[in-house]
Amino acid sequence: MNAVVLGAGGFIGSHMVERLIRDGYFVRGIDLKYPEFSDSSANEFVIADLRESSRMTDLLSINGEPFDEIYQFAADMGGAGFVFTGDHDADIMHNSATINLNVLHAMVKLIETTKKNSTKIFYSGSACMYPAYNQEDPDNPNCTEDSAYPAAPDSEYGWEKLFSERLYLSFSRNYGISVRIARYHNIFGPKGTWNGGREKAPAAICRKVAMASDNGEIEIWGDGKQTRSFLYIDECIEATRRFMMQDHFFGPVNIGSEEMVTINELVTITSEVAGKKISAKHIDGPTGVRGRNSSNNLIREKLNWDYQMTLKQGIQETYRWISSQIENSK
Ligand code: NAD
Repeated sequence: MNAVVLGAGGFIGSHMVERLIRDGYFVRGIDLKYPEFSDSSANEFVIADLRESSRMTDLLSINGEPFDEIYQFAADMGGAGFVFTGDHDADIMHNSATINLNVLHAMVKLIETTKKNSTKIFYSGSACMYPAYNQEDPDNPNCTEDSAYPAAPDSEYGWEKLFSERLYLSFSRNYGISVRIARYHNIFGPKGTWNGGREKAPAAICRKVAMASDNGEIEIWGDGKQTRSFLYIDECIEATRRFMMQDHFFGPVNIGSEEMVTINELVTITSEVAGKKISAKHIDGPTGVRGRNSSNNLIREKLNWDYQMTLKQGIQETYRWISSQIENSK
């Protein structure tokens, strides 16, 4: 089997490359950049800008033949400090939509030239596409797959994800392309961005706690009572592979954890892992919706998959890795 991983220089993409290699695939990785935190284990790694359409059919084929599988992770992406401020909205919408349009257009061209239509494509959507009005109560957010409409995502990032999942569904309907669409809920773990402004809450909190002294204080955006769930990267990769390896269910489906915590609780868990007493200083900052949690009923039923690890176990792995990154950068 062979696969191409788009966004292979990023967090989830680089982990997927490792997994596919372990599973015996021939893998081509494509990204604007090489992975930041380790070498890529891909058989080939191509530096390319997927907003450019000219090379796209070459990138998505090997010896003139389409790849067996495509994993589409490439997007303009970041945590709350990147996607919820509004400062990057035009880039997020334009860049990510252009990538998805180009990929699907090239797949159609390849179907026409090779007369083959057997490639499966996975699209990484996001829980950010769920309507804000169902996520106002931090104790009872509703993120079941069928709650998506009437649509009202709270960010342009979420709107682009919703547009693109519809784009993949329409190419499936009209061109028979075999798509699998997931809505990821906050994936975290080692080798994820941990500084620089695009990091997400678990990595940012691990970094702040690691850099704080015992009995110290860290800054948290908002009152910290907003709720979220977080899925450890290995579990995300396992669910995604399971999704790709079957041919009866295509999504959209949530891939996430149902262990919902407040951001203040995330700070407590991280402090316990670090063996430090840390208090939170609440400051103004972008926070996103009040509450969000994955609903896993559909994925349990269709793929017999569920998360296994506790948040604390995932934070232990992530904290250890971020602490070593901080040490190495000194
Ligand atoms: P990431 O930012 O680490 O990886 C995305 C990669 O895409 C980056 O390496 C980036 O360089 C690459 N890329 C961006 N524009 C490109 C272009 N024009 N050409 C080629 N490569 C380009 O993000 P991630 O956390 O690994 O997320 C992967 C996917 O999963 C994204 O689509 C993201 O929206 C989605 N997702 C992630 C999460 C999460 O919690 N990490 C949650 C929901 C959805």
